[in-house]
This record gives sequence, structure tokens and C-alpha cells, in this order.
Amino acid sequence: MGIFEKYLICPKCDTKITLQDTENGCLNCGFSFSSIIKLLGKDDDFLVLYSDCIYADKLALKCIVNYNSEKLLKHFIECSWGAHYNTVFDKLIVPYFSDLDVLKNFLSSDIIREDNNIVWSKNKEHKAYDLLLKYLRKIKDKNIHKFIVNEFK
Ligand SMILES: [Zn+2]
Repeated sequence: MGIFEKYLICPKCDTKITLQDTENGCLNCGFSFSSIIKLLGKDDDFLVLYSDCIYADKLALKCIVNYNSEKLLKHFIECSWGAHYNTVFDKLIVPYFSDLDVLKNFLSSDIIREDNNIVWSKNKEHKAYDLLLKYLRKIKDKNIHKFIVNEFK
């Protein structure tokens, strides 16, 4: 799997699958991506809207949130409208985000500016702010929670 190749994470068994392989469902458990494929690439406002009203399908939502997680995290940092970024975070990232690779990438990217408020991880590969860490500790996924707690003491 190439670095720049977009993938989906099966919301049932966490297997990573490249887009062109999703046609016949998850290679591991058979989960069908057909309803999800149609919804990919929509913006985060779409997701906020759908998380509250239309989506009964939590597995589909989990899949879409992870697929768009780079964009959602970036939006969370750059958006200055509190009601909006809090909703994005609490409704989508906290319950559904589970892609540790995306998080690590995000925390080593230029989006986290290296000003005076920066907090470095133990291994010095990742950076954050106190307030951002407070948010990230709320994420339900066990691997992400463990990473944040262990790397940023
Ligand atoms: Zn699966």
C-alpha cells in the first residue's frame, strides 16, 4: 500500500482496504462498502449534519469519519467558530476516529505550529498544545487514547 494511496478502514474488523479493492466488500469480514463509497469526499459540514439526523448506520459513519479524518482534524485546528469545531470534535472525532497513523501524521505536520505553546512528545516526533491534548484525551478509541496518554505525560 503506497503512502499516498487513500484507503478505507473496515468499521467492523479494522482491516485497511484500498479504494479499488472495496468493490467486493471487506477482504477479511465481507462488510459491504457500497453505501459508503457514494458518500466519500463530502465536506465535514455534511458529516455534522448527518451524524445527528440521517445516519442510523454507525458503521458507515465510522468509516467515513476515518476516511475524512485528516480534513476533520485540520478543520478542528483552523476553524475559529467554537460551536462548529466543538461539534465536529465531539460528534465525529471522539466517538469514531480510530486511525492512529493519521493522528501521528497530523501531530508531526506543519498544521501544529511550533510556537511557544508547543508540547513535544516523549520521542520528540509529535507535537501538540495543552488545549489540543485535552481534546485528544477524550477520543474513545483505545489505541489512540493509549498513544496520547503515554507520549504526552
Ligand atoms: Zn472487515
